[in-house]
Amino acid sequence: MPELWGGCTCGRIRYELTLNSLDDARTTLCHCHSCKVAMGGAFGLTAKTPIDMFQYMAGCKPKVFVQDNGVHREFCENCGAFLCEYGEQNKDKFRFVGRRCLLYVMTGTLDEGPDALPPKGEFFTSQRNKWMPQIPDTFQKKKIQN
Ligand SMILES: [Zn+2]
Ligand SMILES: [Zn+2]
Repeated sequence: MPELWGGCTCGRIRYELTLNSLDDARTTLCHCHSCKVAMGGAFGLTAKTPIDMFQYMAGCKPKVFVQDNGVHREFCENCGAFLCEYGEQNKDKFRFVGRRCLLYVMTGTLDEGPDALPPKGEFFTSQRNKWMPQIPDTFQKKKIQN
């Protein structure tokens, strides 16, 4: 059973991702404007996993930012690193074990880095930066998000 560890830049927040197999996580790039601004980068890079496979270490208390579109993003209050995001509909189920709801882990925060869970597809490719090539052998969605 693959166990992946991750955390924020300053180390105050640590989490564990316990997967039955690496196929439990589906990593994608998202080229939408919202992801770019939130990440301060060229795209969003997240792995979709069942919510109960993601667990903060005891005592780690992330801050939650709720965007207009209902996306919840959790981040470290001290260093600002985004760790995960999920939709409004999963808010109440978050952190409760046994429900198969989904959240999205920012794979840049994994200790092994994004190579631990390579991307399987790209969303909002219509908004891909002009200088950025397509990732080979991944599915491509022009507009849909996640
Ligand atoms: Zn931090
Ligand atoms: Zn996006």
